[in-house]
Amino acid sequence: MRIVLLGAPGSGKGTQAQRLVERAGIPQISTGDLLRAAVARGSELGRQAREAMEGGRLVDDALVLGMIRERLGEPDTRRGFILDGFPRNLAQAHALERMLEALQQPLDAVVQLEVDSRELVRRISGRRTCADCGRVFNMLTSAPAAGELCPKTAAPHRLTQRPDDNEATVAERLRVYDGKTRPLIDFYRARGLLRVIDAEGHVDEVTRRLARALGAPLRAPRGAKRRARKDAGARPTHHKPTRKRAARQSPGKSARRKRAVARKARAVGRGKSRRATPAARRGRLKGRPR
Ligand code: ADP
Repeated sequence: MRIVLLGAPGSGKGTQAQRLVERAGIPQISTGDLLRAAVARGSELGRQAREAMEGGRLVDDALVLGMIRERLGEPDTRRGFILDGFPRNLAQAHALERMLEALQQPLDAVVQLEVDSRELVRRISGRRTCADCGRVFNMLTSAPAAGELCPKTAAPHRLTQRPDDNEATVAERLRVYDGKTRPLIDFYRARGLLRVIDAEGHVDEVTRRLARALGAPLRAPRGAKRRARKDAGARPTHHKPTRKRAARQSPGKSARRKRAVARKARAVGRGKSRRATPAARRGRLKGRPR
């Protein structure tokens, strides 16, 4: 599945994308995370992006598009992907459309996560990210459980607040969302791709709504594990036969009986049965010379 998650800052795109990754076995592509990683590495791209990010403005389209083009060229995206935080304006949406057309991998759905603006501010102010495993928590609604350990370090999560999660920057990010990103709702509605979900309430409930909107039981697609092993360079393991294939290869009692009945019916039709039906016997007697 190729999905875009659309929504204001704090609407839960990242959290829900992480849950989709676990259930659907397809990668999350978050331009925010990619940009933050570039800033942390101190790369040229990060240096160019930093100022816009700290001011809550959009990073230059050319930078973001270059990053996305590169990411969509990686093999793990062939099974599908979840775009989180991209596209963020009409120019990016048009560019994405052209890129996916060239790859012959059009989008399947765009899900808009709807949250009231007061709730958005509350969520952003409580948001903390584990610096080691990257998991996102909210100190008001979903703080780490007592004694919970980070899977990367086996120590308590190292919770940090994003530098752009302060009041002034949040206000600017919400303005940018309204002015530049919101128009994408109509863009995708016109293409018949838009699904809107209420993203308030418990995180699990929002995940259920998201699954319903995608019309998909959120389990790994058939063969996903085998393909993932293959991509990782492992030798393909032998196929466990499906129930249908197993029945064909070694038919059970009832399958054998059904085939025997069908064979007999065909033989009777051709007049070859050893134990012919009464009607066939009558026909044969009639035709016999006295
Ligand atoms: P949020 O959705 O919570 O605002 P993100 O992590 O998606 O946070 O993005 C953080 C910042 O990174 C944005 O405020 C913006 O400066 C930059 N950014 C992320 N994605 C894009 C994008 N597609 N185009 C331009 N800038 C982006």
